[in-house]
Amino acid sequence: MSSILGSSSFRALLRILSLAGGYWFSGWISLQLAIPPGFVSGLFLPMGIALGAILIWGWSMLFGVLIGSCLLNISVVLLAGQSFSWAVFSLAFEIALGSALAGAFGAWLIRRYVGFPNDLTDERKIFLFFILGGPIATSISASVGSLALFFNGIIQGKQLFYSWWTWWIGDAIGVLIATPLMCIFFAAPRNVWRNRRAAVGVPLVFSSIVVVVVFVMASMSEQKKMEAQFRQEAQVVVSSVKLGLSSVEYILAALGGLFISSDNVTRKEFSAYIDHVIVKKHGVSGFSWNRYVRRDERENFEQKMRSEGFEGFYIKEKNASGTFVKASERDDYVVIGYIEPWQENNAIHGLDVAVDPVRAAALNRALESNAFAVTSPLQLMQDKQYSPGVIAFFPVFDLARLNTLSANKKNWLLGYATAIVRTNDLIADTLTPFKTDDYNLIITDITQKANPLRFYTKGQVAIPAYAQDLILEERVVLGGRELLISVSPTEKFLSEHVSLQAWFVLAGGLLFCSLLGGFLLSISGRTQHVTNLVEQRTRELASIFENAAEAILVVDENGGIQKANPAAATLFAYPLADFRHLQIVALIPALQGRLNELHLAVLPSELRETIGQRSDGANVSVELSISPVDISEQKFFTFIIHDVTARRKVDLLKTEFISTVSHELRTPLTSIKGALSIVLSGNTGVLDEKANHLLAIAKNNADRLARLVNDILDIDKLEFGNVQLNMQPAPIYPLLKQAVEQNHAYAERYCIHLQLDLPREALMSLRVNIDADRFLQVMSNLISNAIKFSHRQSVVRVNLQREEDNILISVIDTGQGIPDEFRQRIFTKFAQADSSDTRRRDGTGLGLSITKVIVDAMGGSIDYVSTVNKGTTFTIRLPIVS
Ligand code: ADP
Repeated sequence: MSSILGSSSFRALLRILSLAGGYWFSGWISLQLAIPPGFVSGLFLPMGIALGAILIWGWSMLFGVLIGSCLLNISVVLLAGQSFSWAVFSLAFEIALGSALAGAFGAWLIRRYVGFPNDLTDERKIFLFFILGGPIATSISASVGSLALFFNGIIQGKQLFYSWWTWWIGDAIGVLIATPLMCIFFAAPRNVWRNRRAAVGVPLVFSSIVVVVVFVMASMSEQKKMEAQFRQEAQVVVSSVKLGLSSVEYILAALGGLFISSDNVTRKEFSAYIDHVIVKKHGVSGFSWNRYVRRDERENFEQKMRSEGFEGFYIKEKNASGTFVKASERDDYVVIGYIEPWQENNAIHGLDVAVDPVRAAALNRALESNAFAVTSPLQLMQDKQYSPGVIAFFPVFDLARLNTLSANKKNWLLGYATAIVRTNDLIADTLTPFKTDDYNLIITDITQKANPLRFYTKGQVAIPAYAQDLILEERVVLGGRELLISVSPTEKFLSEHVSLQAWFVLAGGLLFCSLLGGFLLSISGRTQHVTNLVEQRTRELASIFENAAEAILVVDENGGIQKANPAAATLFAYPLADFRHLQIVALIPALQGRLNELHLAVLPSELRETIGQRSDGANVSVELSISPVDISEQKFFTFIIHDVTARRKVDLLKTEFISTVSHELRTPLTSIKGALSIVLSGNTGVLDEKANHLLAIAKNNADRLARLVNDILDIDKLEFGNVQLNMQPAPIYPLLKQAVEQNHAYAERYCIHLQLDLPREALMSLRVNIDADRFLQVMSNLISNAIKFSHRQSVVRVNLQREEDNILISVIDTGQGIPDEFRQRIFTKFAQADSSDTRRRDGTGLGLSITKVIVDAMGGSIDYVSTVNKGTTFTIRLPIVS
């Protein structure tokens, strides 16, 4: 017992885990079809798999849905690079709960309103199944899922509807496609669903794959289009940035020109030049003239500066604690001599910039290359707050002695035209013409490959994986430093430029597939239904055919036998297989040359009852009934052949019995009756009272026996058509008179007054076609019955009337009447209403049945009306002959 329990719960557990795995796997596949950045998939198969599983294996499958959905949602988050946390789990669980609820609701609706297991063979059920399990149930998973994303801060309010809509479409289509497939593979009734693999499963899967392929192609071309558009925009941005960067060089060259052209630029000239000549660039926060001062020139230089109005000027440097102090003795200095704008920058006036290694490196490069040089990115401190920037130097030499330049360029170096560049402002300035929220821009100083330095950052640094392909990168050299400009699309750009065309292709196409699925289900259902019905009917018919007691043959128009049943094999003594080669005339010789008569509605009597020929040569008496059947333009005849050999034997026996009765019984009975009559008449001597009485009883019973014998002979003759009626037109009234006269004596015996109503003159001569003797027999029987069943002293009337073309002859009594329940049997043989009545001994119960046979044979009819204790009227209706 425990092992059975164990194995069934183990199987249930296995199913739950398989469902969880299937849910996770199909979900992962479905999400591959999602379009970034919203992760919208037009097809979410797991919902359909879940619904199918719950329907097929029951509510325990909900655990599988919960586990599978949790796993799927967690792995989506992990794959996106986030780490696992309690918040991730709770979001995954909330979404899973929505999916499980949707599955449960769908399964409940379907069980309640469609029924399950179900072979889904009619359209109404298929429609309900799809609508309830698809759009209606999945509105729950879409609602719960979208709200969970919203409340967990994954999406914003304005994205809520979009998220809900796409979620719903994906889930609903998943149900429409995957649930029928689940049923095809696992649902009962297996024979119906299994047969649909080829008719429904294959086209559904195939068309879905086609749609998915078209979708992938469409979304790839969308992606390409977007890529091209982005590259175009990004290229312009990069060019503009490059232009902005190089403008620093031009400006600085212009400033350098001032010092090249004049030996002795004054503070005033410098400031005027900056004010009026130099193009102001937003990103350049200051210009300076950094004078190259050798150790021996220091004194003079400081002196000269002081004389130009810089009171207390001396060359300074920063000490360890960061305050400015007088520069210590060195071979040479690069001193900030003039600086503009003065207000913002005067704090560093007089500073020896060559002390700082970053600046010194750039100064050296400028000197060596005799060209514009830029420092690596550093922090500027002009505005008392640090901002990222670079300093650009342009070396100025004493041109007069330039042609004699020797290895030591410092000998002719005058100084450096210098620009302090705030990189953020400079780049921002170049970007003003562009929509800046479309892209992220990152500029990195990669001069030292191992130690890249951030030059400029706008927007997101971490680019999502799906946007990696779209990044545009370009290297530029600026003042001897190598910069990498990289532009990537923002999420906003992506979401604005992702056209939903591909999504519509997917959703629309799959919707079409599911409709196709529904349609195929209904077609295959109908086919199955019809096939079942045909099979069942065929089996029924075959069993009737096979087991029929009557021989049945199916014969074609040419008389060839197409089919025969076992009863036919027995009747004609042929093996069943041989009938295929037989002609019907071989079995029924009478049909020779008369096959064209088979079409007749009523067969000639000689064909209806005829002789059959057995394989062993023996004859059988058969009765044929033949019905034509039209099957697809061909005519067939169904022969039902009844073996009447036994009936014939009985008939023969009966005839023999009747002749025995008539000859062997009637003749001695007549002599017994005659002898008794003679003895009773006293002609053979007077008998004593007792003997007389006994003989009277004997005579009475002999009479009764004779009547019975006569009646039996009569009815047999009538029934077997052995009596030929001698029909002749005769006036009816005289016959009625005769009948009444014949029964007078009988009426007197019962003290009954028997009378014939005098008819209207016109009726007296009416004639009917009758056998007069048999008619008198009929009338005698009706009149004697009326007398027998009347009270003493009452009247029995015989009445003649006309009704249209018939005459009506009535025998009317006021006797005991006939009970209603006797009506059914009254005209059958040996039927008597009241067996306790002593008068019945006078009758045989055969009279009325003989009467009816005779009246029917004369082309008339007989009926009666009767009320118990009130009387009875028997009426015969016969057609009038003119
Ligand atoms: P029987 O030889 O017994 O008269 P019938 O066939 O003539 O046989 O009548 C059958 C039965 O129908 C009678 O036994 C009787 O019960 C009933 N029956 C016939 N005629 C009448 C009648 N006029 N009044 C009442 N009962 C009748």
